[in-house]
Amino acid sequence: MLIDGHGREVNYLRISVTERCNFRCQYCMPEKPFSWVPKENLLSFEELFLFVKVAIDGGVNKIRLTGGEPLLRADLDTFIKMIDEYKPGLDLALTTNAYLLPQAAQRLKDAGLKRLNISLDSLKADVAAKIAGKDVLGQVFKGIDKALEVGLKVKINMVPLKGINDDEILDILEYGKARGIKVRFIEYMENAHADQALKGMHGKEILAKVKEKHMIKALGREGASPSFNYLLEDGTEFGLIDPHKHDFCENCNRIRLTAEGNLIPCLYFDEALSIAESVKKGDIQGAADVLAKVLKDKPKENRWSEEELEDREISKRAFYETGG
Ligand code: SAM
Ligand code: SF4
Repeated sequence: MLIDGHGREVNYLRISVTERCNFRCQYCMPEKPFSWVPKENLLSFEELFLFVKVAIDGGVNKIRLTGGEPLLRADLDTFIKMIDEYKPGLDLALTTNAYLLPQAAQRLKDAGLKRLNISLDSLKADVAAKIAGKDVLGQVFKGIDKALEVGLKVKINMVPLKGINDDEILDILEYGKARGIKVRFIEYMENAHADQALKGMHGKEILAKVKEKHMIKALGREGASPSFNYLLEDGTEFGLIDPHKHDFCENCNRIRLTAEGNLIPCLYFDEALSIAESVKKGDIQGAADVLAKVLKDKPKENRWSEEELEDREISKRAFYETGG
């Protein structure tokens, strides 16, 4: 079992397999970064897999592949298969913008993937294009349909933004309901890479929108999940990911690995230690030692919380690097 310096069990590893992306979402990567990580610095799937084995052997039982856009790594299904064969039954999931899903869904499913989270911020083509920086919606809809068709379990992530898509919260809920897809609303997390003019909706404001049409019942957080779940009167469940709430980090169970091998204990802070040298040498003990140190120093909580509003500095961590 992996335990962090605050006594929390860590059993969830998120791996950002590339920082590159085919979208330019305003809240994440509105412009192409000044410098991408050079291709030669990216860890190969074999190198990432060495760390995956260390993490699984230590107690990780949930892995999510993310990015950037993870489907830009064309042979992602090979990596999924490696993990699935090492630990069949492990909770293995992917987060994607769905643009490349129509071609990839069947291969991902065949490789052993069970679950997908898909980012869908708008049902209107012009709004989706404004958020993503290009015309994406038709392809994203096709991707969602294809994922459902091949039997992948799908959840939708929406980041509500004031004056942009805040009038679509109820419509996205309906879209999910009609397809048996759970919707999760994510509070916009301020960061230095996003368009600084953006204003996110607070969890309370998101809930107020839902209440305009529905009766809702709070169900609570599901174990260590960051999502606080709610139930509508007709039995539909939805989630709210509210990192600004003071208790958000209490049961944090996750660490993040970037495509170049930085092991990041918290989405908010810059601190990270590299496993690159260890995995390139095949040094299992070295990778395990880095993991132990990152767990020991994992921060107690992020600084997006309401209490920190007064004096906090904006997070410099890029979502496209950590994978969200
Ligand atoms: N490209 C994939 C996608 O968009 O689903 C995976 C990577 S993306 C960084 C993972 C998740 O982070 C997405 O659901 C995205 O909406 C969310 N995200 C990115 N920047 C965010 C921000 N500033 N605040 C809240 N969520 C953010
Ligand atoms: Fe790309 Fe996902 Fe970031 Fe949008 S949120 S720019 S799709 S990594």
